[in-house]
Amino acid sequence: MPDYQTRHLDPRAPLVLDTRDLPRRPGAMRTLTRVVAAPASLRLEMVGVPEGADLHLDLRLESVSEGVLVSGSVSGPVAGECGRCLRTINDDLEVPIQELFAYAHSTTDETAEDDEVGRLQGDLINLEPTVRDAMVLALPTNPLCREDCPGLCPECGAHWDDLPADHSHQQGDPRWAALSNLTMTEE
Ligand SMILES: [Zn+2]
Ligand SMILES: [Zn+2]
Repeated sequence: MPDYQTRHLDPRAPLVLDTRDLPRRPGAMRTLTRVVAAPASLRLEMVGVPEGADLHLDLRLESVSEGVLVSGSVSGPVAGECGRCLRTINDDLEVPIQELFAYAHSTTDETAEDDEVGRLQGDLINLEPTVRDAMVLALPTNPLCREDCPGLCPECGAHWDDLPADHSHQQGDPRWAALSNLTMTEE
């Protein structure tokens, strides 16, 4: 989704940066720390940054000949479900970001493909696509409550952590034997 083509950025939007204070002279630099509400899009299926959670931006805006280079880090809380046992996961994520936002009509602007670099829109930078790409890429596709989570017993759905070491549904328990006979009869 080419967000950078949006013509009317809201300067008060949480992830829109105003570069008016940054002199357009290569080497000029500003630091920016800001806590903003996380947008809804920072998530994968089972894990993500909750919408509205505190996102901490710790950024450096640097004038370069072609535009403004934004670098630094973004961090925020992550909530999700363990892919093996469905327990709630709460964690923190910090990701580095670095992206060039080209001035309109700069060589970079004229020669780069639309999705290769960001663009300044007037004095404004839309950092949301950059933050989203960096954070979503860093989220685990198969989140686990811990590396060696044993998951759930496929027979009864109880967590292996809560079951005795010899937990089994093999013969020996007449109640389970009765149940499996019943199931077979129904089929
Ligand atoms: Zn787990
Ligand atoms: Zn079981």
